[in-house]
This record gives sequence, C-alpha cells and structure tokens, in this order.
Amino acid sequence: MLNKLLAQADSIAIGGHVRPDGDCVGSCMGLYQYIREVWKEKAVDVYLEDIPDVHKFIEATKDIRHEIVQGKTYDLFICLDCGDADRLGFSLPLFRSARKTFCVDHHVSNREFADVNYIFPDASSTSELVYDLTDKDKISTRTAEALYLGIVHDTGVFQYSCASPSTFEAAAELLRKGIDGPKIIEDTFYEKTYAQNQVLGRALLESILLLEGRCIASYLTKKQMEFYGVTAKDLDGIVSQLRVTKGVEAALFLYELEPNVYKVSLRSGDMVDVSRVAQYFGGGGHKKAAGFSMTGTHRDVMSNVIKQIALQLPDTEEKES
Ligand code: 5GP
Ligand code: MN
Repeated sequence: MLNKLLAQADSIAIGGHVRPDGDCVGSCMGLYQYIREVWKEKAVDVYLEDIPDVHKFIEATKDIRHEIVQGKTYDLFICLDCGDADRLGFSLPLFRSARKTFCVDHHVSNREFADVNYIFPDASSTSELVYDLTDKDKISTRTAEALYLGIVHDTGVFQYSCASPSTFEAAAELLRKGIDGPKIIEDTFYEKTYAQNQVLGRALLESILLLEGRCIASYLTKKQMEFYGVTAKDLDGIVSQLRVTKGVEAALFLYELEPNVYKVSLRSGDMVDVSRVAQYFGGGGHKKAAGFSMTGTHRDVMSNVIKQIALQLPDTEEKES
C-alpha cells in the first residue's frame, strides 16, 4: 500500500498531531527517514509542532518544519497518529490541498477521513503500523530507533494491553537493527527533569478521589505551570501515575492551555471506556487513554467529566457538591 502511494508521488509531506507525543514523533520521523533512505529521488518534508527535548536525539528532528509556506502543495500528504484532520493543527492546509491523502492511525475514534486509510484501533501505536507498511530489510538503524521510540511510548514500555504479540515481534526486529533499546526507554520515558518531578508531586498531592475512590482527578493551572517553569510538554506521565492508584478505574488530569481552557487527559482500567467520554466532549483517543479540550474553570470541567465517567460506573453514587 505504502509503496504504491509513494511510487505515484514526487513530493510528500508527513504531518502528525498537535502537541506531539512519543508515538507521533516516532512514527513521523521513522517514516520520514525511511522515505529519505529508500526513496531517495522523492522530495519529503515533515511538519510537526515543537517536540519534547527528549526526542531530539533523533537527528532528523532538526529537519522538522514548524510552519507552512503559503501556496505550497504536495502530491501526497501522509497524516500519522491523528484521529481526525483537525488534530493536524498548523499543517491542516497542506492536508487539504494535497493531491492525495493517506492516514495511518490507531485511534478507535478515527472516521477514515483521508483518501486512503490504514486504521487499526487494536494496534499498539502508529509506529507499529508504519513498521508494518515498510520493507523490513530496508529499515536502517536510525529508522528503527524512531519506530521503537513510538512503540515504547504508546505501550508504556510494553506494559499496556495494546502491546500484542505482533508488537513484541516488531520490537524484536527493530532491536536487531542495532539500536540501544534500554537507553531509548531510560532517556525518553523514565528520566524526568527536577521541575517535571516537582509538578508530578504537586499534581499527586492536590489530587482528589471521587466516585467512592474509583475515580481520581487533579489539575494544574497556567499560573502553577509558570511557577514551576514547565510547559505542556513536561506533563507526560502524570495522568498515568494517577491511574495506578489502587482501586481507581478512571483518572483525569487537566492543565490550562489558555485562561479557562483546559486540556483533559483521561486514563482508565478495564471498566471505563474513556474514548467515549472524550468523544462526547469533542475529543478522541483509545478505550484506556483519551483526551479533549474544554472551556471553563477547572471545577466545572472536572464536574462535567466526572458525570460522564459516573455513567459508566453505574453502581457508584456521584455526590453532589
Ligand atoms: P494524552 O492524554 O496523552 O494527551 O492523549 C491520550 C490519547 O488521546 C492520545 O491517543 C491522543 O491522541 C488522544 N487525544 C488527546 N487529546 C485529544 C484531543 O483533543 N482530540 C482528539 N481527537 N484526541 C485526543
Ligand atoms: Mn499513538
């Protein structure tokens, strides 16, 4: 599928979602490097917002374009890790103007919005799907590094239920390309800056248990983020830490994007499908990890979200506050 699309295009753009995470960076950079190395005659560009510093060990990230040139069009736009076209953010006009569009994604909320779609909601990550689409013997060490990074992040280091036998097979093959797997895991997933650990601590301290201990919620305002000197890129992992609290079925973590606009991150265990909650509020994601943005005070946002979660935990009583 990928070979056919690439054969028909001279110019190719790759784009991923706003506030890129490990899988977004991994899949975009893996595919970008693969095309550059295997399809040398093609002109390929990659468009992403600013990425977390820990992912900049992938050398080709220096080629990332952070803005578009008006009037530039591509034969093929490849949209990665986006459940809907709006998630592309600033690169959306390039998607709209491209002669052909191709979407590779694993969000259950994806509605197949491109001309050609390769959507597998059960896949661990978009990076695993990019791996599926490539010729394995043509994957270089550098491409393998990027795809491994993506798989590591979206599986929580091979821990979440989305990590299937095919995920481990892909990871094994990528390790055979000579990458330093443990270093990628340590440097990009576990290592945190002092400020990141401080805000994690703050979010845990300020968290509240709701719905008889089956739901946990916490938040950070813009002012608090400024106080600790952190930005949205530094908050990865907080909601997952909230979620592992004993007895908790659903965790929500909000942080303020602009005054009274909150980004909501949701995580769940087996009982709650948070993608349904996120889609109800105009966002998307997966059964156990989803998100959206909402306007209001943190109290309003929290109480609206809790109501929706409570509907999926029918034998808990939501206490009126
Ligand atoms: P996170 O909470 O880590 O930002 O996101 C969890 C999952 O939900 C990711 O797969 C992400 O792509 C998806 N997600 C997060 N925020 C949004 C959003 O605003 N809209 C949509 N459609 N998906 C989101
Ligand atoms: Mn992903």
